[in-house]
Amino acid sequence: MSWPAPVRLTPRVTLVGSGTLGFGLTDAHDSHVYLLDGGTDAVLLDAGCGLAADRIAANVRAVLGARPVSRILLTHAHADHAGGAAELARLLGATVHALAPAAAIVAAADEDASGLRTARRAGVYPPHLHPPAVPVHPLDAPRLGVGALTVEVHPTPGHAAGHACFSYRDAGARALFSGDLVFARGRVAVLATPDTDLGELAASLRAVRDLAADVLLPGHGAPVLRDAHTHLDAAVGHLDRGALPPGLLP
Ligand SMILES: [Zn+2]
Repeated sequence: MSWPAPVRLTPRVTLVGSGTLGFGLTDAHDSHVYLLDGGTDAVLLDAGCGLAADRIAANVRAVLGARPVSRILLTHAHADHAGGAAELARLLGATVHALAPAAAIVAAADEDASGLRTARRAGVYPPHLHPPAVPVHPLDAPRLGVGALTVEVHPTPGHAAGHACFSYRDAGARALFSGDLVFARGRVAVLATPDTDLGELAASLRAVRDLAADVLLPGHGAPVLRDAHTHLDAAVGHLDRGALPPGLLP
């Protein structure tokens, strides 16, 4: 069977990688990988696990042609999001960026800190998945330019150390790349890892709710292309009732 084509979600955003918790475009273990096209510049949001980096790069080229991707922005260091950073950086000629705590984990290929060693032992990832180290630039500015767009960086710990969400406004609408902080219908992903912090998760959910996003582009599952704030309100509604929002996985 041939590979599925990349999926255009908005005039600026195309899904170029996605695993079994998503659209099945690329390797089963890949998070969503989004291509954000600002016109004269383009970036990737997350990198997948690395087992289908060539397929993701081909999807990027199918969208951009010869135009380059300058940067790969990582939401966090978990292997399904960051494992492909080294190979995609090489294939695309891009640099890799993450908030400092996540940047240190990915740069060192620290499989204990990223949770990969434990997840691999639990059968979440195949035994041969060992993402290589790659230079990662710490994101230390609150916003960055991507061609005609301004992307805001939102430190949002809770699901993982150094987790970031990213947002931009275009044509009057705000789109939010939420990583693994929050998913459609206000779902969350709470892992039994030492860097999961429920207090931080709640504060991060409230902070991104206040962005009043129109479009929600999460790390897994369905994107929300209209009225995304109602999904974020649902998550915060659970917090207001003293409960954690329901999990992404049953
Ligand atoms: Zn994660």
